[in-house]
Amino acid sequence: MINPTWKKLSKETDIQYEGCMSVPQIRGRVERYKNIELTYYDENGNKIVRELNGFFARLVQHECDHLEGIVFLEKVKEHSGFATVDNMNKYNLREKNNKL
Ligand SMILES: [Zn+2]
Repeated sequence: MINPTWKKLSKETDIQYEGCMSVPQIRGRVERYKNIELTYYDENGNKIVRELNGFFARLVQHECDHLEGIVFLEKVKEHSGFATVDNMNKYNLREKNNKL
């Protein structure tokens, strides 16, 4: 996936816990658009445009943030929106349908 960009397809968002290999053992609640259009180029220079929803829309927004030097910690709006992995498991904090 080369030079990915995305745009929202609706104003609909949701807030889910996210994690990141750049920030081990910490999760945070981040608001993301639920429906996006992803545009990128493949290894042969072909332009690819795909509509993504839910988990994959969140994943692309998270990864594209990295290309801008942003990690998810900067997008957590509430101090109570952070949790350790241990506490996520201990208190069953995972949101429904979230596999990040
Ligand atoms: Zn990440």
